[in-house]
Amino acid sequence: MRDCFDTCSIISEFEDGVLKVRGNPEHPITSGFLCEKGNLLPQWFHSERRLRQPLIRESLDEEFHSVSWDEALSLVASKIKDVLENWGSEKILAYYYAGDRGVVNSLFPLRLFHYLNASVIDDGICSRAGKEALKDIYGSFTGMDPENLKKQNLIIYWGFNPIWTNIHGYEIARRFKVERWVVDVLRTETAKRCDRFIQIRPESDVWLALGMAKLIVENELYDKEFIRDKVYGFDEFREYLRGVSLEDVCKETRMEREELEDISFEYAEKKGVIHIGLGFQRTLNGGESVRAISMLPALVGHPRGFIYSHSIDKSYAEGLHLRKGELRRIP
Ligand code: SF4
Repeated sequence: MRDCFDTCSIISEFEDGVLKVRGNPEHPITSGFLCEKGNLLPQWFHSERRLRQPLIRESLDEEFHSVSWDEALSLVASKIKDVLENWGSEKILAYYYAGDRGVVNSLFPLRLFHYLNASVIDDGICSRAGKEALKDIYGSFTGMDPENLKKQNLIIYWGFNPIWTNIHGYEIARRFKVERWVVDVLRTETAKRCDRFIQIRPESDVWLALGMAKLIVENELYDKEFIRDKVYGFDEFREYLRGVSLEDVCKETRMEREELEDISFEYAEKKGVIHIGLGFQRTLNGGESVRAISMLPALVGHPRGFIYSHSIDKSYAEGLHLRKGELRRIP
C-alpha cells in the first residue's frame, strides 16, 4: 500500500458528470506520474459507499443518522460558542493528524483554530525527535532541495523505503542514474532494487553513523576546507570519535569490518546525500541516531546533504500569525 509523504500534482476534469484524473506533466517533481492508487480516485469519488452527508448520534447506544450540512455546522458552531463563552478558547482542542494531502489541504483547517486561539495537538508523533536532532546540528531541519537530486552521485536511503513512501524521489534518482544504497534492518522493496543493501541490527543506526564518521576522520577523508569554514566543534567531535571502537560498531550493527570500511570510504568519495527515514527515530536513541547520521554530510563537505520529512516551515499555511494569545500544544 503506497503512502506518499509528498503528493502527486493531479489534473482533474469533469466530462458528462464523470470525473477523470491524470498526472500533471508540467510538475517538476511528479512529472505526470500517478500510481494505481491515484488512478482509482474517480472510483472512490463516484462510489455509492462514499459518505456524502454528515452523520450524527446522541449517544453511544444509538445508530448514526444523517443530517443536513446546515444542521451539522450549526451544532459544531454552537458547541464552540458555548466553550468560548463558558470555559475559554484554550479548552477547545483541534485534534487532527494525517498522511499527506498536500500542505494546503492538511494545514488550512488549522487557521480557524489558531484564529480562535484554541489548543492544538503537538504533531510531533511522526518526526519530532529527528527534527530536534537536526535543529541541534544545523539550526533547522531544512535539508537538500529535492530538485537537486538529479545532480547527485549517490543517495543513501537510511531506514527509508521510498518505493512505498516517496516514489517520485526514487524515480528521479533512478532516471538520472544516481547510485542508490539502502541502510535498513530488513530487505525492503527498495533494498531489492537498489545498488547496495547494508543490513544492520535494529536500533544500531547510531553505531553505524559513528563508525563511518570515525573511519572518515581517522583516514583524513573529510573535507578540510569545508570544515574549517563552515563547521563548529570538529576538534571535539574528533576527540569523541577516538572513544568509539570499530569492534563495537561491527558487533552492534552485525556488519563485517570490510563492509564498514568500504561504505565509509566510498561515501566520502562520492559525497552522497542521505535520505533519513522516520521509523528508527521513534526508538529510544532515535534522536541521537539522526544527530549522528546528519553529521556525515558535514564531514564530507556536502552542505545540508540530507533529506528529512517535510523540510519546510509550515507556519504560514497553518496560520500561526492569526493567533492572538499564546499557543498551547497538547502532547
Ligand atoms: S504516487 Fe503517491 S501521491 Fe501519487 S497518486 Fe500514488 S499514492 Fe498518491
